Amino acid sequence: MDGDATIAARKAMVEEIAVEVTGTRKWLGKDCLDRRVMAAMEKVARHLFISEASRPEADRKSAYANRPQPIGHGQTISQPYIVAVMTDMAAPDPNDRVLEIGTGCGYQTAVLAELAARVYTVEVVPELARPAAERLRRLGYTNVETRIGDGARGWPEHAPYDAIVVTAAAWRRIPPALLDQLAPGGRLVVPVDRSRSAARTPFTDQEQDLLLVTKDEKGRTSERKMLPVAFVPLVEGGQNARR
Ligand code: SAH
Repeated sequence: MDGDATIAARKAMVEEIAVEVTGTRKWLGKDCLDRRVMAAMEKVARHLFISEASRPEADRKSAYANRPQPIGHGQTISQPYIVAVMTDMAAPDPNDRVLEIGTGCGYQTAVLAELAARVYTVEVVPELARPAAERLRRLGYTNVETRIGDGARGWPEHAPYDAIVVTAAAWRRIPPALLDQLAPGGRLVVPVDRSRSAARTPFTDQEQDLLLVTKDEKGRTSERKMLPVAFVPLVEGGQNARR
């Protein structure tokens, strides 16, 4: 698939996102997403993030289908609609510093990097983190810093952040470190399992809510439930969660 074909595929993808946004307006509380967010979705070459090496040429077009895709190591890249919605909720401004938890293949990172001043991204699986860092560097994203570690602890050295985007589902609670590292006026976008405090098996289908947490100038937080979602779990303090 050459340049022109991928441009057309991205245009079609953005149109599909717009239709789905309209169809889910009751959750989102709006009819359309920010124009800058839609422009970033149209610009970032999603197919380059979906395992360049392991997917045959014929599969590239599917990179633009509005559905999640495997990225190896049991992880998935979110469907384009969800990436767009989360980015819109985070509302990154050109001067903003953004923290992303769960680099994965680096696609969401790239979309955020198109819109914010600086993006810090943390991934717990080294085999995903390293190629993602290399890919982002190769694509010219000089405003991105990557690290390998447990993102549930945030990245305190660069805090506070104007926006934090968590692309794996928290279990029972929003990691307190992330709330701490959110700047006054900041937005935290995080999927959290619905039961919160109930003891039952985590992460059956769509049992998470995508939350938008905002912090006011006095440091008080308030949260709003946006959408039912299905994310891979955020591994907290597990054996992989090295620092
Ligand atoms: N934003 C990614 C989607 C990744 S899926 C993309 O655009 O491709 C969720 C990712 O979160 C996975 O790569 C998973 O390994 C990672 N993850 C899970 N728990 C984590 C943790 N505690 N810290 C950092 N990353 C974590």
